[in-house]
Amino acid sequence: MRIGVGGIWQETNTFVPEPTTLADFRRYQLVEGPELVAALRGTGTELGGALDVLRRHRARPVGLLFGAALPSGTVTRPAFESMLRRLVDRARSTAPLDGLVLSLHGAMVVDGHPDPEAVIVRALRAVVGDVPIGVTLDYHANVGPDLPRLADVLVGYRTYPHTDMAERGAEAAELILRIARTGHRPRGHLVKLPLLSAPLGQEHAGEPMRTITAAVDRLCAEPGVWTASAWPGFAYAQGDRLGFAVYVAADRHGSARARELAALVWRHRAAFAADLVTPGRAATTARTGPGPTVLVDVADNVGGGSPGDGTTLLHALDAAATTGAVAVIWDPAAVAALHARPGPATDLAVGGHSDPLLGPPYRATGPVRRYGPVGYTRTGSYMRGQRVEMGRVAVVEDRIGELVVTENRVVPFDDDHLRAVDVRPAAARAIVAKGAIAWQAAFGGYAARTVYVRTPGYCPADLTQLPYRHRPRPSYPLDRDPAWEARVTAELGAGESR
Ligand SMILES: [Zn+2]
Repeated sequence: MRIGVGGIWQETNTFVPEPTTLADFRRYQLVEGPELVAALRGTGTELGGALDVLRRHRARPVGLLFGAALPSGTVTRPAFESMLRRLVDRARSTAPLDGLVLSLHGAMVVDGHPDPEAVIVRALRAVVGDVPIGVTLDYHANVGPDLPRLADVLVGYRTYPHTDMAERGAEAAELILRIARTGHRPRGHLVKLPLLSAPLGQEHAGEPMRTITAAVDRLCAEPGVWTASAWPGFAYAQGDRLGFAVYVAADRHGSARARELAALVWRHRAAFAADLVTPGRAATTARTGPGPTVLVDVADNVGGGSPGDGTTLLHALDAAATTGAVAVIWDPAAVAALHARPGPATDLAVGGHSDPLLGPPYRATGPVRRYGPVGYTRTGSYMRGQRVEMGRVAVVEDRIGELVVTENRVVPFDDDHLRAVDVRPAAARAIVAKGAIAWQAAFGGYAARTVYVRTPGYCPADLTQLPYRHRPRPSYPLDRDPAWEARVTAELGAGESR
């Protein structure tokens, strides 16, 4: 049996003005053919998990194309279409295939393609015909109505931080092999909820997602249910697809089960709200007491598409005279300046370049450690085995602590990126983490305290700060209308059997 593997993967924050281009995919990951299989085998990624299952079942993986870029602005149409063309060409030239496992994100937005994941599956379906297609989707997928009709099974992550990527890829591979062997397919049912939420309220181990993912797990164990998912979605985008979705693929009663799950989500809608503290209070808190204190720079969430050069917390730490901090900041110009001249930094402007929203540059002063191009392989629970390139790095031993200035944007999915430049975050008094929840995979094991900070950026926890022009209306919590809410409750509660 020959199974095609591939995908195009990016989370798009449409509020970020910079587009995501083919160069961004090349910089992060763009592999094709046998090289794809070699690059992803053994990694803790979706396709890594799928390749493992295919090997165990003696199915032959056929590498198509896999392109991934860091979360950022809208993907350009030429970048998407050129990758799609190559993906489809590979599927055509390696035909006949007995099935496909695709790793898609589900919250990618392409200029001119509001639902690019559906475009990908539709194009591949036209080439491979009626073979099983399994698709893995990020926890933050904004799943639209077309995808469940085009693919045979959808499998969403059940963890945030996302530590089950490989497990879900393995599940998708098992499911399509089952279809390929038996010829029997489940029926997929999607229910979309008028519910937007920020990442901060979506941690799987916290409420309400703990209750919701427990219900998904119970559903998956029911006889006749092939798989189920609950996607909180990604609110930092414009478009019709935004919002919570639940999905059940089953032999029977899938529609009723999906509605029951949606009703459970709806009952817990108020629990997605999160509490934040001001930068000043956060910096003062970190000054005393046990460390490390993780200061979560919620809105400058690199994993949510924000640039990662926000300086608000640096200024706050400085004003509070807090020392012993560790902070990563993206600033290619500052790195170049530090590499161009030896000696310590004196009043060097760091960060705050991408948007005035993210704060004025921070003036850094102190001895500098310089590192040439820094790359590392992730050893943590997120995408273990994946190679990351940070570009050149300079570490300024500033008055507030170690400022890790990087040429490329770096996501705190692991602490390998700090250890690669001789920084020991576990020994720090404070760690500035540019993320909402995902950083827990990096620092959660030794964080003494966590403070979620109300910072400026492209990923605010308060969704009313976003200039939405185009989103589903109404959507809780941005729109409130008791009559509407009562109607939604009735719709979601109306289970049916078939
Ligand atoms: Zn995600």
